[in-house]
Amino acid sequence: MSAPNSLRCLLRPSAAVPRQIAAATWTPSPWIAPFSTTPGAGKAGTTPKKNVPKPKAAAPRGVGMNPTGKKQSMKKFKKAQGAKTAKPPLPGERKAMRKRIQLSNNNALPVEGLAELEPGTMLNPKNIGTMAALPGAMQDNLRSLEAFKATQFWPMFRQPATLIRSETVDLMNRMQSAASKKETLRLVVTGERITGKSLLLLQSMAYGLQNDWVVINIPEAQELTTACTEYAPIPDTDPVQYMQNNYCLKMIQAIRKANASVLSKITTAYSHPELPQNIPINSTLLALANAAKEPESAWVVFQALWKELMRKGAARPPVLFTLDGLPHIMKVSDYRSPAFELIHSQDLALVRLFSDVLSGATSLPNGGAVLAATTRGNAPRSPSMDLALAQREAEQAGTELPKPEPYFKGYDLRSEEVLKTVSVMKLKGLSKVEARGLMEYWAASGIFRATVDEKAVAAKWALSAGVVGEMERVNLLTMHP
Ligand code: ATP
Ligand code: MG
Repeated sequence: MSAPNSLRCLLRPSAAVPRQIAAATWTPSPWIAPFSTTPGAGKAGTTPKKNVPKPKAAAPRGVGMNPTGKKQSMKKFKKAQGAKTAKPPLPGERKAMRKRIQLSNNNALPVEGLAELEPGTMLNPKNIGTMAALPGAMQDNLRSLEAFKATQFWPMFRQPATLIRSETVDLMNRMQSAASKKETLRLVVTGERITGKSLLLLQSMAYGLQNDWVVINIPEAQELTTACTEYAPIPDTDPVQYMQNNYCLKMIQAIRKANASVLSKITTAYSHPELPQNIPINSTLLALANAAKEPESAWVVFQALWKELMRKGAARPPVLFTLDGLPHIMKVSDYRSPAFELIHSQDLALVRLFSDVLSGATSLPNGGAVLAATTRGNAPRSPSMDLALAQREAEQAGTELPKPEPYFKGYDLRSEEVLKTVSVMKLKGLSKVEARGLMEYWAASGIFRATVDEKAVAAKWALSAGVVGEMERVNLLTMHP
């Protein structure tokens, strides 16, 4: 038989050959080591079981000992876990849900007589206190620019509409005058929580899109500075600047989608040999923007696009560059250099580009505006920004300038420098006329059931000090989806 032969071949030449090796049934042999690292072999090993103390098994989870030594199971106190049948969310799916913006609600009533926004609507002081609906095509463009925020009350109404307030008319007129004189409006929108700063930026973008400006938006400045997007040093820069290619690609795609009609009418004036693809002179700027297909080329394409837009000439439109969340770029960022030192936000190339226009170091040769909004929700403290804005406000009001605290060391001089000459627009509460316009719109939408008269407006206005977000909370919070 083959079994004895095959086992015999494992023996050492020095060991005595056993006389009999049972062929059919295998019995433990003295030449096999009494231990094994393989569980199966160990089980079949020859270790006698007698006299070996049995090791105490660890108590399974949920089983404890009570004082009498009796095992006690905790299972009965635990909730029975149902079978997990749902598919776990894919990467990025949760974030997409969180950032989802719903712009209409079929349960709300359509508001009769609601006018759509037109290019001149927000310039006319007669429209203060009225609501204007955003046209459908513009909604898509504003959505691409991420102008709508998930915290705003869009999902309650039939269609997105905004209140034209006195600050809206003021800002739009300043933008129009800057564009017509080919100057740059540099302005920071500030104010307390939920006073409508982000919404004023949205209105400025709506104005820009309707009046054939090129609109560029950085919707959340924190996405640039909290080290959540990739970065790389730009070669040959001293001090070293850093590009953020993935963010840049996303931004170019937004610019392309939102400004397609304007960009397709303008042609390039420079050859751009540095681009990954040949863009001959006289191609449209849309074709130039389309050259950004991979993150690696995004920063170069953005620079080329910016260079074209900054070319002084009659055929170039005004530019609107907006940023929400100013405190995030007024401090040291969370990124680190190869020497493990923290990088200042102003050394991130995109932030630097924005700050240079805001500070006036570079101007927009074809006119336009650069607007930044502060935010009070989820914002880091920036004492330099607060001080600089308070000083600009005092300058505008002609009062004494607030002074920095002499013994405080947390000021950031580079940030102060950026805000040295900007204009400041401080948003406060709505006037009673504006509050009434807003409340009448809520009532017409069927979500505010009380009668809107002088008394009701005065009561709600006093309760919220006219702050538009507070008014919404006071009146519509129970309705929030
Ligand atoms: P934060 O300080 O948190 O950034 P904010 O000042 O940017 O707040 P917004 O998000 O612009 O505040 O607005 C707060 C709320 O007020 C939103 O729900 C928004 O819909 C509403 N709101 C603000 N301005 C207007 C307006 N002009 N018309 C209609 N609703 C408005
Ligand atoms: Mg905001």
